[in-house]
Amino acid sequence: MNPVIDRRLFLNLLAKGLLTGSGVCLSPSFALCRTAFDCALEGQDLIHSNAYEKAVAVLEEAIRLDPGSDWAYGLLGRAYHGLNRKAEAVDAFRHAVRLNPEDTYSRMMIEIITQKPIPSLKKEKRPPTPLEREADAEEKRMFAQLQSEEGLSYQVKRVVIDAGHGGFDSGAVGLSGLKEKDVTLDLARRVHESLAQEGKVKSFLTRSDDYYVPLSDRTVIANQYQADLFISIHINANENRQPHGSETYFCSEKASSKEAKRVAAYENSFMKLDKPYKKRPGYIDIEEILFQFERKLYWEESGEFANKYQERFRTELPLKNRGVHSANFFVLRTAKMPSILLELGFISNQEDEQRLSHSEFRAKIAKAVVKGILS
Ligand SMILES: [Zn+2]
Repeated sequence: MNPVIDRRLFLNLLAKGLLTGSGVCLSPSFALCRTAFDCALEGQDLIHSNAYEKAVAVLEEAIRLDPGSDWAYGLLGRAYHGLNRKAEAVDAFRHAVRLNPEDTYSRMMIEIITQKPIPSLKKEKRPPTPLEREADAEEKRMFAQLQSEEGLSYQVKRVVIDAGHGGFDSGAVGLSGLKEKDVTLDLARRVHESLAQEGKVKSFLTRSDDYYVPLSDRTVIANQYQADLFISIHINANENRQPHGSETYFCSEKASSKEAKRVAAYENSFMKLDKPYKKRPGYIDIEEILFQFERKLYWEESGEFANKYQERFRTELPLKNRGVHSANFFVLRTAKMPSILLELGFISNQEDEQRLSHSEFRAKIAKAVVKGILS
């Protein structure tokens, strides 16, 4: 009689790696190895119906027919375990692992069965340390927030403010000669000082004066400060002098629009000022490879944050709101935290440039940025 095996079951077993070593070949007909396989299958059914005694007999027959089957040994272990015959169960599981070192189920079973009960240690009663108390309160607060309707909102504790450009890199320059690097530095300082006064969030600057910081170093600084938010401040520019207003960006592999792509290409073009990064021949950056997966999470979080931020920030901002966009910004790429880039007005637009040169106007913008961070 030809065995009729459900194709789905077969593929299922194959996917679980249960067929490895069982002697089953991948040919469409299982006739060659049907006996050992049949026995093992029958054993499995018997285990499922708790007929362990019978299962042991059938599975031992399967092993006699195919001593190289880790699957059959694993099942035999389960059958013995069902009978509470621990020594034989462990022995069968060990055989399974020997035949297939990747059989994590059998490995786990060995550990479970052979585990010696851990003597319970008497807990010494002592008052919690201030740190433990704080952690406990934080946990309770998070739990309460998770259960509340609003859910968990992002709470910023440490922020790095990055004033775009600096030193010999002026960034964009307006018609009347206003330089992006000067406006960004002034805005960053204002935001930094205002945050220091508020005292709720610890803030750090990537540069505090008119000097050049390579793009790649800016995120390194943010990572070193272990910030939970990175904000890079820039002023937009366009060949067309019409566009005005502010945009909030986060990093993504693909740009959200043509304009977003242009802005990122423009900001990234300043990278040519960085010293070329020389890789040693044959050097593989493991950190970079691992970070590729992490990065996606930070970007997702950045997108969520950018939208929430924009909502709070737009109500205070004295500039036209041009919305949230995303593109591949080099300065954001390697940040190990949610990070956004603000283009606060167009230096190429006469009115924006004129307003940006006034200190009261900058104070209003800084206030809006701070509100976005603090709320
Ligand atoms: Zn810029």
